Amino acid sequence: MSDLADLYQEVILDHNRRPRNFHTLAGASHSAEGYNPLCGDRLTLYLKVADGVVADVSFEGAGCAISKASASLMTDAIKGRTVSEVQALFDRFHRMVTTPPGQPVEDMGKLSALAGVREFPVRVKCASLAWHTLKAAMANEHQTSTE
Ligand code: ZN
Repeated sequence: MSDLADLYQEVILDHNRRPRNFHTLAGASHSAEGYNPLCGDRLTLYLKVADGVVADVSFEGAGCAISKASASLMTDAIKGRTVSEVQALFDRFHRMVTTPPGQPVEDMGKLSALAGVREFPVRVKCASLAWHTLKAAMANEHQTSTE
């Protein structure tokens, strides 16, 4: 394994062990529940959007290390961003995890820790669950599923 792969592994383990923004959110303006039936991952995402900016975000739930780390990394990445920046980030993340293995992908900082899921198609659902749930929350749909 390369040093870079080790580093990415460490980021995922760290965010799984100590997930950031892992709580409910009083005064949330948006929320959605996500479920990945392939793995059994479940999460609820809370957003507080004010003046077109994600002022706060949090999540709760239970699932595998990849799904939890991805949700944790996502909340860190979107906090303080405008809704249009978040939508652009969703598109970039989606492109990163759906690019075939072996092809180059954009550097997304810490979010790049999840680029390795491309090698494991089932894991792509785990990594994308938080992002699909985010999209549903922003669209004010209550439930989403990666199916
Ligand atoms: Zn999973």
